[in-house]
Amino acid sequence: MSDHDHDHESSAALSNRVKTLVAQLEQRDLLTEAKLDATVETFLLKATPANGGRVVARAWVDAAFKQRLLDDASAAVAEIGIDMSHWAPVKLRAVENTDREHNVIVCTLCSCYPIALLGPSPAWYKSAEYRSRTVREPRAVLAEFGVALPPDVRINVWDSTSELRYIVVPRRPQASEGLSEAELAALVTRDGLVGTALL
Ligand code: FE
Repeated sequence: MSDHDHDHESSAALSNRVKTLVAQLEQRDLLTEAKLDATVETFLLKATPANGGRVVARAWVDAAFKQRLLDDASAAVAEIGIDMSHWAPVKLRAVENTDREHNVIVCTLCSCYPIALLGPSPAWYKSAEYRSRTVREPRAVLAEFGVALPPDVRINVWDSTSELRYIVVPRRPQASEGLSEAELAALVTRDGLVGTALL
């Protein structure tokens, strides 16, 4: 099943299919339910926006890292010890906000989202309204999130897929000079990483 089919199947039918699959894998000694639970738990415990915060803070303090991040985000994220191996072959792309351009991410077809770096996605990200309107009228949607951009700032909308996910590198807040990398990371919010908030 491709990632973009999940919205089109009832959750009960999906749940039954997963149970059947797990039972078959157990029968063949390919998997135990306990091991599956442990894997999912570890993943969810590690999947938080603090990871995205670490990536962004490093990019703010290290221009060479930022360039590597923009060139190949999957590799740059691995470089700072965030394990995304469970995620292959999905690619990550980082897009940088500047004084001329603002970036916002969406999945128009379903709810593709870089969970490993941002944690579980919020309900609004999965809503039909956000998914459709962000592409059509991004400036209005952003205004509703409280993001008022000057008219000359270009808005780029990035449509996530099962092969390619995005993370926004927000602009570094003014008056953040002298903060440590860890303190900078703590300034980065989940919505900032989606592009629906400024820092
Ligand atoms: Fe999706």
